Amino acid sequence: MAPALPTYDDVVRASETLAGVAHRTPVLTSSTADARTGAQVFFKCENFQRMGAFKFRGGYNAIARLSPSQREAGVVTFSSGNHAQAIALAARLLGVRATIIMPNDAPAAKRAATEGYGGQVITYDRYTDDREAVARRVQAETGATLIPPYDHGDVIAGQGTAAKELFEEVGPLDALFVCLGGGGLLAGSALSAHALSPGCAVYGVEPEAGNDGQQSLRKGEIVRIATPKSLADGAVTTHLGQLTFPVIQQRVTDIVTVTDAQLVDTMKFFAERMKMVVEPTGCLSTAAVLHQAIAVPGKRVGVIISGGNVDLANYARLLAA
Ligand SMILES: *Cc1c(COP(=O)(O)O)cnc(C)c1O
Repeated sequence: MAPALPTYDDVVRASETLAGVAHRTPVLTSSTADARTGAQVFFKCENFQRMGAFKFRGGYNAIARLSPSQREAGVVTFSSGNHAQAIALAARLLGVRATIIMPNDAPAAKRAATEGYGGQVITYDRYTDDREAVARRVQAETGATLIPPYDHGDVIAGQGTAAKELFEEVGPLDALFVCLGGGGLLAGSALSAHALSPGCAVYGVEPEAGNDGQQSLRKGEIVRIATPKSLADGAVTTHLGQLTFPVIQQRVTDIVTVTDAQLVDTMKFFAERMKMVVEPTGCLSTAAVLHQAIAVPGKRVGVIISGGNVDLANYARLLAA
């Protein structure tokens, strides 16, 4: 039997769990962005979230909901970076042991940060190994609970709290743009949009090289692709989830794509105009607005900046190019 899909009530419960623990991140505006798009753009800055990305919300919410005996056995997860840091930090705050399965080419800064938060890291090859199988093996050996990066009701509900805060702060919007990897952030955001701003169009934004979400929406079933290569290393997922896909199908207007060049342009825009460090994956949503994947003149538009964790050497190289 398929597990129950998360609802907006789950997002509300997650926001209660996260109150006083997660940062209520700022919503910023930019007259340059407004001039470039003809819209009024509100940036929800999850690059300023604890550990540098929205993933803290879902990770903390999921671990907080475990029973005492589950917490005792610890948690395990697989992640290309930010979910790893989120689980390591959330587990430490909740006094739970965390094992993190990470690709061996993950950015050095992300691995160091994960270990810094007290997570135990195990590596795998993202082009040849099945990370989910590696995680299941650790799970079988230790009894730890698997907290996947996106396909989990409590993770989706936690991720939805960022958009909930955005709508509570700025009121109804005409359109909301959300970075899309496996769809936890998009599904959660769509639940909040539907409840708090029912007329708001919700768009997922993927890297052009990895448009499995767009293909899935068009085809009406989950499409799997080979691991794509993109600067957006947090969104190079191969498929949407059993829980994220149906929510996205029900609540998301469309999925659009942006190129790596547009991501770099957007990173420069954030650095130069808004004085913010935003990682390439975090630039997806804004790149779609600035480069008019969907035209938004005259509209009130929300954009979720999903994270700001960069490898400094890479970041400097991309900005200088
Ligand atoms: C994980 C991540 C995403 C993608 O989120 P999903 O819930 O997998 O769709 C986007 N941006 C950043 C910065 C991330 O860490």
